[in-house]
Amino acid sequence: MNARALLVIAALVALVGGGYMAAGRFEGTPPSVVAPEQLVVGKAGATLSIEIEDPASGLRELSIRLLHEAGSQPLSDHSWPGGLIEGGLPGGRTASIEIEIDPVAQRLPDGKATLVISVRDWSWRDGFSGNRTELSVPVVIDTRPPRVSVQSGLTYVYRGGSAAAVYRVDSDVPVHGIRVGNTFFPGHPHPADADAHIALFAIPVDAASDPLVEVVAADEAGNEDSVRFPARVIERQFAKSQIDIDETFIARVAAPLARTAGLPVVGPSETFRGVNEELRARNERMIRERVQDGAARPLWSGAFTQLAGSKVMSRFAEHRTYNLGGRKISQARHFGFDLASTTAARITAANAGVVIFAEDLGIYGNCVIVDHGLGLATLYGHLSQIEVETGQSVAQGDVLGRSGISGLAAGDHLHFATLVGGTYVDPLEWWDPKWVRTHVGVRLDPSPR
Ligand SMILES: [Zn+2]
Repeated sequence: MNARALLVIAALVALVGGGYMAAGRFEGTPPSVVAPEQLVVGKAGATLSIEIEDPASGLRELSIRLLHEAGSQPLSDHSWPGGLIEGGLPGGRTASIEIEIDPVAQRLPDGKATLVISVRDWSWRDGFSGNRTELSVPVVIDTRPPRVSVQSGLTYVYRGGSAAAVYRVDSDVPVHGIRVGNTFFPGHPHPADADAHIALFAIPVDAASDPLVEVVAADEAGNEDSVRFPARVIERQFAKSQIDIDETFIARVAAPLARTAGLPVVGPSETFRGVNEELRARNERMIRERVQDGAARPLWSGAFTQLAGSKVMSRFAEHRTYNLGGRKISQARHFGFDLASTTAARITAANAGVVIFAEDLGIYGNCVIVDHGLGLATLYGHLSQIEVETGQSVAQGDVLGRSGISGLAAGDHLHFATLVGGTYVDPLEWWDPKWVRTHVGVRLDPSPR
């Protein structure tokens, strides 16, 4: 091949290559923009997060504006370095943008607005001004908090005890209820008063002393209002007990539970600790999760019943220390009542409701949970047999199963617990017809309160 031919080939390569490149610089794929479908901005403001990408030519310009009834406001302008020949720099192909929207500082009027996001790339399209993507995001700016007002009078609540609160909210809000310290108890529409809401709440056993009890409401924009609820907390002491366990019990009862749960079965004390602490925590998380989505109206009526003919073996919130060979190896708070009757006794629903759990649950063995509505639930553990199914409605006194020794139990008994909004409460109050009438019944009743 002579030099001239080589030159022709070189020129051809340059032309084809150049054409190839030019074709590439003429690419027609606009930048991709991932943004929220809508945005609700409250008084505290909101953060807008967007992801933009342009793999072919690279990002060139971004502009974000907010159009509202009072005008248009630029929120962000950004350009990326690059040139018409080479396009964007390699580092300018993707970007994550976060923009703070602060209606107070930016003097944005309440109402509907539109966020316009416009992005251009370094392509030669559109007379070298690039491919453009424009996205409109509907925005609602709402800086007015909802207003709550308390309807219930002074309420006495024991630590570990329950109460009901009636309140009003001046607008439709997605979140409202009672907050006790850090624990939130969601409220529900009042069944007999369309303008009011009702929430069952409790003073958790481990709440701070004299905890703040408030009615809270938060709208979609995150604006919150809270007012103090007139609750007086009555302190009480809970029993403490020492429980001596032996290696036989650990090998026979705890080790199989540890194995099933995938926990290490090593020395006796570690095995027991794993079951009593780690497995217990897991089981409690599951219970709290399940009782979350109960009925928004009361399914129960009147007082709850204690298992017929049963003897109380252990009371609510007893603090248990477990000893092995005279040495403390673990501890736990016992949040239920242990009720002993006969072997394989018929276990009945303490009140009407819907079965929301009916299967094995670690330390509680065969376990049934009944939802009674408004966040109230009862739990029945250590059963030898379950005779109901999840989703089934039960009346007070309906048989749920038979007592037994499944789970972490030393002898045939029923572990019975009551929960309000996922917090364990003393069942004694709910077993007392007078308490149920004077503390909950009157607040559910439409007659003057
Ligand atoms: Zn128990």
